[in-house]
Amino acid sequence: MSDPAKPAATTPPPTTPTTPPPTTPPPTTPPVEARSAALADMEDGLRFGHIMAMEARLDVADVSARVLALTEELAGRGLVNLRKLSERMDRLRDEERKRDQDRAMVHIAPHTDKYAPREMPSIDCAALIPICHGRCCRLSFPLSFQDLDERVVQWDYRRPYHIRQRPQDGYCVHSQPETRGCTVYAQRPTICRTYDCRRDKRIWLDFEQRIPAPEEPQPLVQLKIPSPGDPPR
Ligand code: SF4
Repeated sequence: MSDPAKPAATTPPPTTPTTPPPTTPPPTTPPVEARSAALADMEDGLRFGHIMAMEARLDVADVSARVLALTEELAGRGLVNLRKLSERMDRLRDEERKRDQDRAMVHIAPHTDKYAPREMPSIDCAALIPICHGRCCRLSFPLSFQDLDERVVQWDYRRPYHIRQRPQDGYCVHSQPETRGCTVYAQRPTICRTYDCRRDKRIWLDFEQRIPAPEEPQPLVQLKIPSPGDPPR
């Protein structure tokens, strides 16, 4: 039991540490301009998504109404042959898919593991860059879900999910203007690893003679990801 007359034992004051605690640098915040630009990009991207969704819904509703009305009309007159209708639908579906390739839409590269070992084209890019100026990095192509998940390679919010290009020179934003080196080399997309420029007339008039194609001021060319069975380019 404790004695009330006796002052309670006091705890000694904490000793001051002889070595100062490690200082953590204050968190860095991106400059206001960079944040505003990022937000503006994000807003553009969201707007694109909303417009696409809205247009797609209106298109689908319109087409459905027309098809249903036509089918009802023809069925009512005994003029519809269901087998032929099905065949026509298959053919028209294919034509619509081809037409879609020229319309604004979301593009995503086919799934491939970009880190999987593979045979790379044997091209000495470092030696050729003074001649070709790395113009392959002006070509446009879609990223893959693997690229998007890594959040390293940037995509164009206004043209999802194409590589983001600088409006000033049309080059990929990861291409260093001075050296034409790639600033995301370790994480570069599959197509950047596998692309073979030697027979691409947008790049070389004659690869063997080292004659580059004339530079376009602002190329809007599509770099197609090869599919199995494609003829060699
Ligand atoms: S990611 Fe790198 S290699 Fe690919 S287009 Fe951009 S700069 Fe060129």
